[in-house]
Amino acid sequence: MSEEEKKFLEIVDLKKGFGSGETRQEVLRGMNFSVAKGEFCVLLGPSGSGKSTLLNIIGGIDSADCGYISINGDKLEDMSEKKLRRYLGTEIGMVFQDCKAALCPVRKIGVQIHEAVSAHEKISKKETRIRAGEIMKKIGMDDYERVLDSYPFELSGGMNQRVGICAAMIMHPNLLLADEPTSALDVTVQKQVVEELLMMRKEYQTAMILVTHNIGVVRAMADRILVLQNGTVRDYGETKNVLDHSQDPYTQKLMNSVLHLKREHI
Ligand code: ADP
Ligand code: MG
Repeated sequence: MSEEEKKFLEIVDLKKGFGSGETRQEVLRGMNFSVAKGEFCVLLGPSGSGKSTLLNIIGGIDSADCGYISINGDKLEDMSEKKLRRYLGTEIGMVFQDCKAALCPVRKIGVQIHEAVSAHEKISKKETRIRAGEIMKKIGMDDYERVLDSYPFELSGGMNQRVGICAAMIMHPNLLLADEPTSALDVTVQKQVVEELLMMRKEYQTAMILVTHNIGVVRAMADRILVLQNGTVRDYGETKNVLDHSQDPYTQKLMNSVLHLKREHI
């Protein structure tokens, strides 16, 4: 693997805090890591450790206080606003914990997807439907015509998450960010949606950062694990090394609690 591939996404000394004065809270305290092209990285850490904040900054929803992010060697902070918007819309796709909440409730799915795509390229409504349909069929939505003509409230939670996956993948991004994409779903559909997300990633060779506590997915599929605690990187390495041989006491504790939880639920 070349140096460039190793550093497809580079996060350097990233810091972020919220509030000011006595209520100021440092959420990311100088994070450093990189993701290679096509790599699947799982982000683990307790609630409040900064996982969503980190993904929101990478996805351009929020901005860092200091440090920088580069993709393919281009620093996001050096880009003009126009280039940055285009870059974030085409290079990075985001799947949220609750995709329904990220959609406008009074506009049909097809209209919203078309608006998102046409913000970045000249495309007809018909062409958008064909492209959305191709992705939707791949993730088990054979009735995509109906879905595209529906409002978000007319669809189940699982269907809305699949719409979210479609919207994130339609520009064929090189990086997919997925923040607990199944935690709001029924247990029976959780597995399907994760499988569909992973299938998309494989089909399009997309690098992915996934926040999940599904240790089965982590062990079987992830290339790397990043363990976050209190806004700092506690561990970062190949899946097997982190799961089985981490020297970090916090990571060991986290792994034990995840495994313990899993046994309790079997
Ligand atoms: P995680 O996703 O790991 O649970 P978050 O990144 O959502 O953690 O949050 C980390 C910390 O940052 C939390 O204490 C949260 O309350 C705080 N935080 C996140 N977003 C904001 C915000 N927009 N304003 C103020 N505090 C925030
Ligand atoms: Mg979160």
